[in-house]
Amino acid sequence: MQEYVRETPLIISHADGVYLFDVRGNRYYDGNSSLWVNIHGHCRKEISQAIKDQLDRVAHSTMLGSTHIPAVELAKRLVEIAPPGLVKVFYSDNGSTAVEVGLKMAFQYWRQSRLPQGDRILFVSYDNAYHGDTIGSVGLGGISLFHGVFGPLLLQRLSVPYPVYSKYTSRETPGEIAGRCLEICETTFRQHPDRIAAVVVEPLIQGAAGMLTQAPGYLKGLRELCDQYDIFMILDEVFTGFGRTGKMFACEWEAVTPDIMAISKGITGGYLPLAATLTTQRVYDGFLGEYAEYRTFFHGHSYTGNPLGCAAALAGLDLFQKDQVLDTIQPKVAYFEKRLDHLFDKSDRVADIHHCGLVAGIDLARSRRRQEFFKIEERMGVKICLALRRKEIWLRPLGNTLILVPPLASTIEHIDHLINSIEECLEAVG
Ligand SMILES: *Cc1c(COP(=O)(O)O)cnc(C)c1O
Repeated sequence: MQEYVRETPLIISHADGVYLFDVRGNRYYDGNSSLWVNIHGHCRKEISQAIKDQLDRVAHSTMLGSTHIPAVELAKRLVEIAPPGLVKVFYSDNGSTAVEVGLKMAFQYWRQSRLPQGDRILFVSYDNAYHGDTIGSVGLGGISLFHGVFGPLLLQRLSVPYPVYSKYTSRETPGEIAGRCLEICETTFRQHPDRIAAVVVEPLIQGAAGMLTQAPGYLKGLRELCDQYDIFMILDEVFTGFGRTGKMFACEWEAVTPDIMAISKGITGGYLPLAATLTTQRVYDGFLGEYAEYRTFFHGHSYTGNPLGCAAALAGLDLFQKDQVLDTIQPKVAYFEKRLDHLFDKSDRVADIHHCGLVAGIDLARSRRRQEFFKIEERMGVKICLALRRKEIWLRPLGNTLILVPPLASTIEHIDHLINSIEECLEAVG
């Protein structure tokens, strides 16, 4: 706050397509998709109309002991688009909770299986992982800046390395990186027989870590390990879901079906808070029993599966078809990558680039050739982003990494404006 109050606050008054407008009448390209949620652009009349129509039917009714029409329809649609085998949908209202639900489900499933070896109380997660801000999700996190202070409050986590791969700077091949990291994961599995409930992972990209990209092949290898040791695989697709990586869900790239999958962010096209945790028949069946057995999954929020959110989500999925989002995004991704390649070649100010789909993290350097980097107190990420604002672009950095998350509805012209402006600011600032 001490830093924030020194700057002129950005107060948004309205939006249109990929642009936000502030109260002073300035226009900004929404280069972080309003914190990684926006897919089809702002104020799409199809989504707005669906919300208004639902508003006239019912704004909210509970999912505890009843359901409602948009929740039923959306669950059907989600199962249709989800990786095969994910057949059950548990609603909530934000990404942290969708993950939290997943880990509670995994724990309770094993507890109700009454294993002779006792409860499975351990979770495996990754260095630099981010899974949300509730205490359970923080317990899976591996970013000390966000998570360190809460250490004494957290669940027992076994940390393994994320197979970070950059086509620009990695010296090892993706296969070598994936293989090395899988070995460490397997060693961890072996060291704690019958004690691990689940492994939780962000597929393909660690978002909040600075868009670190995963070595191809890793996810498939992890699925095989989870099968071999009968440990649940929980995928956090909160960020990667809904087309971000160029497929509907990131795990499709490796034809992997997790046991549990958390989704949120893009689910409503970025219009309203909604989340879901999808799971398999096996996990679902683990919660069936006679009334007095209390095998119920006791987790329900007041606004779980809100009808307005579900209506927005249905309209958003319709737009995926109408706009052919997953087809039209492919040339944009290819063009985006070409521009990033060029930026890396051209600018000594770029230490590394992490790219996947319509996502990039650009690590800044004073000089890549001389291997000189900015100190955190130099606030170079912030400075570049403030300069970008004067070029009608709104980005939010993570430290000295620029975070590019264009709305999927962006055009080639928008991508040019974004990268051209970054090129100019990299030369002009600092
Ligand atoms: C944003 C995010 C979350 C948390 O979602 P919220 O809706 O902000 O609670 C969890 N996991 C990942 C990978 C995310 O990017």
